[in-house]
Amino acid sequence: MENDQEKIHKTGTKLSLEDLRKVFDKAGLRLTHQRIMIYNAIMEAKDHPSAEALYERLKKEVPTMSLDTVYRTLATLEYLGLIKRVQVFDYIRFEPDLSRHHHFVCKICKKIIDVKWPQFDSLTLPKEINLLGKVLDHQVEIRGICKECLCKKEETKTT
Ligand SMILES: [Zn+2]
Ligand SMILES: [Zn+2]
Repeated sequence: MENDQEKIHKTGTKLSLEDLRKVFDKAGLRLTHQRIMIYNAIMEAKDHPSAEALYERLKKEVPTMSLDTVYRTLATLEYLGLIKRVQVFDYIRFEPDLSRHHHFVCKICKKIIDVKWPQFDSLTLPKEINLLGKVLDHQVEIRGICKECLCKKEETKTT
């Protein structure tokens, strides 16, 4: 499990069906058809969807899919280290990209856009942080208004 988990964390790329089955087998979990569908959908999503948004996409293809299955499968995938949970404002969203990155979050439409920031990543954290506890990860959340929402604002101003 350790090695597989490490490999996955480093890459964050979509696993082959065979590798996905190995991860589920090792955890003693059953890889059902619906779980595969949900895995594929979240790995292909670039927009940090919520469980509800993913459910809306999936139910067109799989009408028997329930929102509860989507919720539970996303929680399982997160537990297995295959995807990440992102919380912005009061919303829980999910993303497949496990590589180090930051988020630009639109205050209006709640869109999350990935931001690469290597200069930040190479900074040394203040020493005092060690007094607070052990750092596992650090990420910047940049809040603002996205381009689309800015354009809409401009439009309403001129009409
Ligand atoms: Zn926006
Ligand atoms: Zn992201």
